[in-house]
Amino acid sequence: MDSLNQTTQFNFKVVILMVLPSLQLPNTLNYIGVFLTLECNLSCSYCINDPQQTGQREMLFPIQAKSLRKCLTPAEWSQALNRIPYREDLPITLQGGEPMLYWSGKGLGMILSETPHYFDLLTNFALKPKTFANNLNGQQRKLQRDAPYPSIRVSYHAEEMNRVWRGQGFAELINRCEALSDYGFRVSPSKAESDVGIYMVAHPQNKMTAEMESTYTGRVPFESKEFLGIHEGKLHGHYLYPFSTDLIARNIHLNTLSCECRTTELLLDPLGFVWGCHFYLYQSWIAGGPVREFEELEAQGFRYSENRARIFAIHDLAPIGHMLDPDFTMADLEVFRSCRHYGRCIGCDTKVKNDRFQSYYDQGIAHTSVMIRNIQMPASLYDKVENLDYSQKFFTPPL
Ligand code: SF4
Ligand code: SF4
Repeated sequence: MDSLNQTTQFNFKVVILMVLPSLQLPNTLNYIGVFLTLECNLSCSYCINDPQQTGQREMLFPIQAKSLRKCLTPAEWSQALNRIPYREDLPITLQGGEPMLYWSGKGLGMILSETPHYFDLLTNFALKPKTFANNLNGQQRKLQRDAPYPSIRVSYHAEEMNRVWRGQGFAELINRCEALSDYGFRVSPSKAESDVGIYMVAHPQNKMTAEMESTYTGRVPFESKEFLGIHEGKLHGHYLYPFSTDLIARNIHLNTLSCECRTTELLLDPLGFVWGCHFYLYQSWIAGGPVREFEELEAQGFRYSENRARIFAIHDLAPIGHMLDPDFTMADLEVFRSCRHYGRCIGCDTKVKNDRFQSYYDQGIAHTSVMIRNIQMPASLYDKVENLDYSQKFFTPPL
């Protein structure tokens, strides 16, 4: 937890942060995700931050010297997030990495204090409940939205948590969640009445045991969530676009394919860059993150639209905007852009899911985080496509 010594080691300039133009949120915007940090105290083998899911997370996202500027300050995040109009039904989801560790653990409370929004938190509960609650600066209510599911969604990772908590991973996690009731949070076994709930990735290695069941029952909501990825050659999860996540990983084809793609979500990396999908975001950070580019951009007053072509000239994977660019608008998300990495998409971008209006359950309309068209699918793969009649509308040239 070296990252707990973070704030003191930066050399900060005193800057006056200007008020940026408000963003016009389309009604269809489904998700706002802020990756506060990609550093994590755990190293789960199936971590989706690593597109290959090869158990090398610790190496790919090392906890680095804190003199290196790898995240926005809480004041910059407040400036960026205050561009987003307050909407009771659209929380900003803080995630990572492990977001509790951001800014020596103090960052969440600093951001929550300076913004009007409701927030959801995706966390592994790295800090003790008392420390976490104290760090919130009395802003608990920003994590207490009236919703059918908990705002604080804690993930349970059996192998890593049993390693860190000496074989008591699940019991410790339940205790931490339950203890939040001492700090102003609602904790109930019913997920609609609880601010906190536990989720376990349904990875084939993660088993629910009778002991676990008796530990959580009557105390904290617990659910499993779909595992997205490949295990022992089998693809898990349901995806709208054929081979989008497994084309290369399962040797279906030698090369990735070209297509056009746009996002339906506002995805922000630790330095405030806006990304078109999780693959681009993660790959950029596996390569160390756009740290040098951020410095150049900062020197240009964050005018990304004006300077993108020069600053990201040598990059294949470039962001689509920056939250501190006064010229950034939500219309930038609606542009279909060429991509030649189809087949290495991240499962959470192309999996079939509900939008926040429950479109799939209620009307059978599949929602995905990205919209893809004109996939240059080789004819030699057509006979491997399940439900070709439906999928062919995504291909070009059409059959
Ligand atoms: S806790 Fe989450 S972010 Fe951290 S290694 Fe595990 S899956 Fe990845
Ligand atoms: S096709 Fe896949 S890799 Fe390319 S931008 Fe879309 S989601 Fe990302």
